[in-house]
Amino acid sequence: MEKVYYFDNNATSRVAPEVAKEMEPFFNELYGNPSSMHFFGGGNQKYMDLARSRVAKLLGCETSELIFTSCGTESDSTAIWSTIQSYPEKNHFITTKVEHPAVLNLAKHMESKGYRVTYLPVDTAGQINLDDLKTALTPDTALVSIMWANNETGVVYPVEEAARITHAKGALFHTDAVQAVGKIPINLKETKIDLLSLSGHKLHAPKGIGALYVRKGIRYSPFMLGGHQEHGRRAGTENVPYIAGLGKAAELAAANLEKENTYVKALRDRLENGLTAAIKNTRVNGGGAPRLPNTTNISFEYIEGESILLMISELGICASSGSACTSGSLEPSHVLMAMAVPQTYAHGSIRFSLSVYNTEEEVDYIIKSFPPVIERLRAISPFAEGKPLFGTEACEPHHH
Ligand code: PLP
Repeated sequence: MEKVYYFDNNATSRVAPEVAKEMEPFFNELYGNPSSMHFFGGGNQKYMDLARSRVAKLLGCETSELIFTSCGTESDSTAIWSTIQSYPEKNHFITTKVEHPAVLNLAKHMESKGYRVTYLPVDTAGQINLDDLKTALTPDTALVSIMWANNETGVVYPVEEAARITHAKGALFHTDAVQAVGKIPINLKETKIDLLSLSGHKLHAPKGIGALYVRKGIRYSPFMLGGHQEHGRRAGTENVPYIAGLGKAAELAAANLEKENTYVKALRDRLENGLTAAIKNTRVNGGGAPRLPNTTNISFEYIEGESILLMISELGICASSGSACTSGSLEPSHVLMAMAVPQTYAHGSIRFSLSVYNTEEEVDYIIKSFPPVIERLRAISPFAEGKPLFGTEACEPHHH
């Protein structure tokens, strides 16, 4: 295979070789069911215990406060449904306009069922205002759900303070920390956070494994009903190989946390500074707020993110665009729209998300490859300076 310049780690990350190695025995010799009475299956309990203690260490919580799930989405759904079930007398949910669809689409569904939902706005830097949270909280509020870090821009939200404010008003606090875990320090013991979601495939474990932190003592109702696994909190035979893999990934993430905030951050800054210096009419979305060390979201004025992605894909570069072209109309990302990014910039955004596996040579290859791509696209852009902006005919339906 040709060289892949992988800068899409917020979408998913490679499985670390150490993680793959940790998982391998469970596909071959150690295939027993941990619920079995016999030594062979029951013996697998100790590997799950090890994994749970590794994840607990990364988060600064108790092992008994962790439930393994199938993904970040399941953790988010469980946290939210559990709270709704546990507080039937309450009818209000607060979240933000910039959440991942895993939270936003559930919020919309709840609205359709008669639940009242408040979506907190963000400023032009992408940041929430805690006064808005204070104003929105009522005695009727069951839950506040605010992501720890945004997947598109990397903006980090003040969730610890938000959790304190929420607790003072008697509601539970959930955070979707899928993008934060392994990238910034987390110590749950020092916070008032009640529920936290994480996903393995964003931190070099495989896709299809996640975890939910449930603070000891809070009301909890299971989302999946069935067997007694995970102490009756999440039914279904445990995915032992993936749980072992997540444990190893958590251990590696703890060891790499400093590297994320030095090495990876320096690479991200080099990429961001290199591109914005070499190319005119760019802006860094979320650049004015605290951000994850691995993420940069850069808008190139007058062009469409998808066209950039297609052209750089031919050069071996993998990144993401914020916009999604659906049913013939070009909709910029809901995150950039909430930040009021100007129209001419909102459509041309590219997210680069790095990991410890990226190198300076890769960054320099991107800095070198980009200017001709942007120049070419601007030359043929129907939107460029002086031309009418974004008519409905601007976007052909894309076939992904
Ligand atoms: N929440 C955020 C912030 C994410 O970035 C993602 C993944 O894209 C998810 C939730 C969903 O995680 P999963 O793919 O494990 O369901």
